[in-house]
Amino acid sequence: MEVVTGVMFSGKSEELIRRVRRSIIAKKSIQIFKSHLDDRYGGVFSISSHDGRVVEAIPVDSSLQISQNLRDDADVIAVDEAQFLDAGIIPLVGTLAARGARVILAGTDMDFRGEPFGPMPQLMAVADLVDKLHAICVVCGGPASRNQRLIDGRPARYDSPTIMIGGRESYEARCRHCHELPRRDEDQVPLL
Ligand code: ADP
Ligand code: ZN
Repeated sequence: MEVVTGVMFSGKSEELIRRVRRSIIAKKSIQIFKSHLDDRYGGVFSISSHDGRVVEAIPVDSSLQISQNLRDDADVIAVDEAQFLDAGIIPLVGTLAARGARVILAGTDMDFRGEPFGPMPQLMAVADLVDKLHAICVVCGGPASRNQRLIDGRPARYDSPTIMIGGRESYEARCRHCHELPRRDEDQVPLL
């Protein structure tokens, strides 16, 4: 069980694709799942090898959909954007790994507040191998570990709604020091 984690733009998908491509070379039977399939890849996320074999990602919204689509012969199971999945992914990948499959999970470990994201902390704890990647902080050029959420170009407040209606939101990779998270007075964390 392998986890590839870190901030957005840190190259998690690139690393997942690299590992899948090498599994294609090794002639393994591969399945890729991707939650919240976005339009970055024209709606379909597929990985092709130099010898022309193509593996397409199966879009899923839940761990149940992964188990429903799993093939018995899959040697390598890759999951991208794992942070959006429910807690059922934790026992599922445990079962698959126990069965001898290689499971590779990619997902961001923190939300825009810098708090643990979905099932990622548990997956990182039980994985055999964890790689935490960094992006480049767009403010200072240092190693970035945080997801900066911007709403209409300004740092999103701690209590900003998860789903934005109307406002334009975007994300940047930033380091701990350049990460901005305005809080209301009552949300301040007291230093004891
Ligand atoms: P992730 O899956 O972690 O979001 P991707 O593999 O999709 O990352 O993208 C990584 C690529 O994003 C890098 O190779 C680089 O070309 C690009 N990129 C854009 N912004 C940044 C940044 N601030 N730091 C590093 N890479 C960036
Ligand atoms: Zn910085």
